[in-house]
Amino acid sequence: MSPTSEEVKQEVLATAQRVHGAGLVVGTAGNISGRMPDGTICMTPSSTPYETMGLDDLVVVDLEGNKVDGGGSPSTEKALHLSCYKRYPEVGGVIHSHAPYASMFALVHEPIPAVIEEVVVYIGGDIPICDYKTTGTDELGDEVASKLSDRSAALMANHGLVCIGKTADDALHASLVVERTAEIVWGARALGRLQPIPEKVNDDFANVYGFIRGEMWGKA
Ligand SMILES: [Zn+2]
Repeated sequence: MSPTSEEVKQEVLATAQRVHGAGLVVGTAGNISGRMPDGTICMTPSSTPYETMGLDDLVVVDLEGNKVDGGGSPSTEKALHLSCYKRYPEVGGVIHSHAPYASMFALVHEPIPAVIEEVVVYIGGDIPICDYKTTGTDELGDEVASKLSDRSAALMANHGLVCIGKTADDALHASLVVERTAEIVWGARALGRLQPIPEKVNDDFANVYGFIRGEMWGKA
């Protein structure tokens, strides 16, 4: 059964608090959104601390970015979220965070290599790095969305991380997988040279990702 609008709002708020609790953002940074049953998008507001954020603060916008409901102001990264929803009808949740280990890769403009099996299954493969675009612009949204056709995550150059999912909660899981991977890869490099997953296994796991995204996302 499809979730109701109220259930999507509750999930966006609960996910936002978990993103903050997991240390993927500090202060009022980052933003979390979910697609509502009527096709509008519920997102966290700008300049509102996660600790005190309530359901009434969440903002609902249409796909063109016009506010249709909610108490807060739309996030400054609204275009980033909307470009993901517009390009991929199967996407039901988007999270932009400043996850520290993932952001380290974003600062040196380096993809996070998919050398852990679960990353290929859950994310689709290496986490790509986007070309630098100024924060808050439509150009940034277009650039990030263009990298997500067969991936659940992309790095924003000199900024942070974007993850997509079937729901906001699913996008949080992707964010945690990426952050943990970035931390492990960073440490593994201190021990020695990274060894790739065998190509055949990698292809099989990438196919699993493609199957799940094609068959499970966008459906109740
Ligand atoms: Zn940001």
